[in-house]
Amino acid sequence: MTALALAACADPVSEMSEVYYRGPGQRVLCAVGIDEGRSDERGIALGLDRARDDGLVVQLYAHVPGRTIALDRLERVLAGARDRGLAHFTYDDFAAGAPASAGIALSFDDASIDEWSAIAEVLDAYDARVTFFIAYYDGFSPAGRDQVRALAARGHAIANHSVRHLRGPDYAERHGVEGWMIDEVRPVAAAMRADGHAPVAFAYPFGARTSELDRALLAEYAIVRSVSFSRDALFVVDPCPE
Ligand SMILES: [Zn+2]
Repeated sequence: MTALALAACADPVSEMSEVYYRGPGQRVLCAVGIDEGRSDERGIALGLDRARDDGLVVQLYAHVPGRTIALDRLERVLAGARDRGLAHFTYDDFAAGAPASAGIALSFDDASIDEWSAIAEVLDAYDARVTFFIAYYDGFSPAGRDQVRALAARGHAIANHSVRHLRGPDYAERHGVEGWMIDEVRPVAAAMRADGHAPVAFAYPFGARTSELDRALLAEYAIVRSVSFSRDALFVVDPCPE
């Protein structure tokens, strides 16, 4: 498939109702990727317009600033949010029952602590508070853990993205839901708590979720986050609930 054909079947973010937070009570949330190739910038801009016009919070996520998302692209999203008067929300805000208003919830996934730390001042410049969904936390060095603490001290939320970034439904099929919770979910929370964090949100690796996993997680987390796909992806069923 050519790039043009791919672009032609991309939904603008504004048409993805599932990525808008509508208020407390909604505990299974979905974000759409804004890394290069995941959403085009016009579609993202339309998504920000809808957040402003409908008074909802649009959920966007990325991975590695400067690598999976160019810094100028990230800054255009932040500037777009500022220019539309959008407030910043973290998943801790959602967990605390924040009502929806015209806003943006930006999150960064996985483990790129150096690149995340490097954008701390850019985020401050836009008054952006974001959520870092961290995987592989047990492999972070003491210096890396200090960097996580420094981000938390700036007002960003620290959340769980599993131990080894495996597909939850597959793991649970082999080891049971409780096995997945024990092996892939709880160790991160325990390590984060030992470092002074209080994770209240969990993001599924690859967005891969089931209702059964939701139930297990929601006994221990206020919020779970999946992802929505703005493009038709072969063999991938969009995991977000409508
Ligand atoms: Zn991830």
